[in-house]
Amino acid sequence: IVNFSAGPATLPLEVLQQVQSELLDWHGSGMSVMEMSHRDKEFMSIAADAEKDLREVANIPANYKVLFLQGGATAQFSFIPMNLLRGKTGVDFVLTGDWGKKAAKEAARYAKVNVAATSEAEKFTHIPDRASWKLDPNAAYLHITSNETIHGVEFFAEPDAAGVPVVADMSSDILSRPLDVSKYGLIYAGAQKNIGPAGLTIVIVREDLIGQTLPNTPGIFDYKQMADNESMLNTPPCFAWYVSGLVFKWIKNNGGLAAVAERNAAKAAALYDYIDSQDFYRNPVKKENRSRMNVPFTLANPELDAEFLKGAKAAGLSGLKGHRSVGGMRASIYNAMTLDGVQQLLAYMKEFARTRG
Ligand code: PLP
Repeated sequence: IVNFSAGPATLPLEVLQQVQSELLDWHGSGMSVMEMSHRDKEFMSIAADAEKDLREVANIPANYKVLFLQGGATAQFSFIPMNLLRGKTGVDFVLTGDWGKKAAKEAARYAKVNVAATSEAEKFTHIPDRASWKLDPNAAYLHITSNETIHGVEFFAEPDAAGVPVVADMSSDILSRPLDVSKYGLIYAGAQKNIGPAGLTIVIVREDLIGQTLPNTPGIFDYKQMADNESMLNTPPCFAWYVSGLVFKWIKNNGGLAAVAERNAAKAAALYDYIDSQDFYRNPVKKENRSRMNVPFTLANPELDAEFLKGAKAAGLSGLKGHRSVGGMRASIYNAMTLDGVQQLLAYMKEFARTRG
């Protein structure tokens, strides 16, 4: 099966095979990682290696904390304002899709949300021009969603927020290309697309921004307490942490983020070039903002959607149904998707268009 699901998503085959080979007995310990105490030296070494490899792969500066948390990106929608308001009252949002809207809705429980720019009137088909953003110089931070998984809109450059810390939800494009962590105050991502199994959430945060939580913030949601306890204030998602560590090693062993970016650009270009070359399929997103991770597309005749999906499934192509809020199709082509997988999809799309167009 070639799995185009938006998440949880396909994992590198080599990683799954390694998990299988050491599932019952990790490195001669006589135990599965699932059974180990997180305080024992075996798991401590797994955890430390994963952090070291992530720091190396993403080139994370020493003044950033890397946290291995739970609750998904959705929990961070609330934990971020709880932790980062730092005595301020307002936060800026640039909205380029539904995930940013959800994050803004949660932040509004704790802060005054200023929508500095939004492309909602154009159905989230582009990123508003930087010149049109109405940023508040006193905002505690500016929040963006670096890749909007549903609409297929992606930032390819770090936004300039005029000195205000930038917070980025990178759930669906983290580790898809080299990034300059020092341009962000905080980066967060649910693991289940480019990193590993669901249940783990990565937060990378500049250390001077933490330690000033809102009153009544539970300790378990306090980034400073989590950082001081190496993300083990309570039992962490051990197994997801371990598999994610194997994925970081896989990235390292396959040329690092520069090579990952090249493969991702080639996969996305193959799909968009075909979509733009004919009239049966269509992608509405402005070319320079098109996501390299999630490629939504519609059929000229939506009455053929069900037949398209049924045939795709029969051809071994799964997870192509578009999000319920936008309809049509969506091919999610995260790091673990191969160019061969994309070519199988293209062959199916071409044949479907030829016979039904
Ligand atoms: N943000 C983005 C960009 C997403 O794509 C998703 C899930 O698909 C989420 C947030 C929510 O993540 P979680 O399910 O980990 O809470």
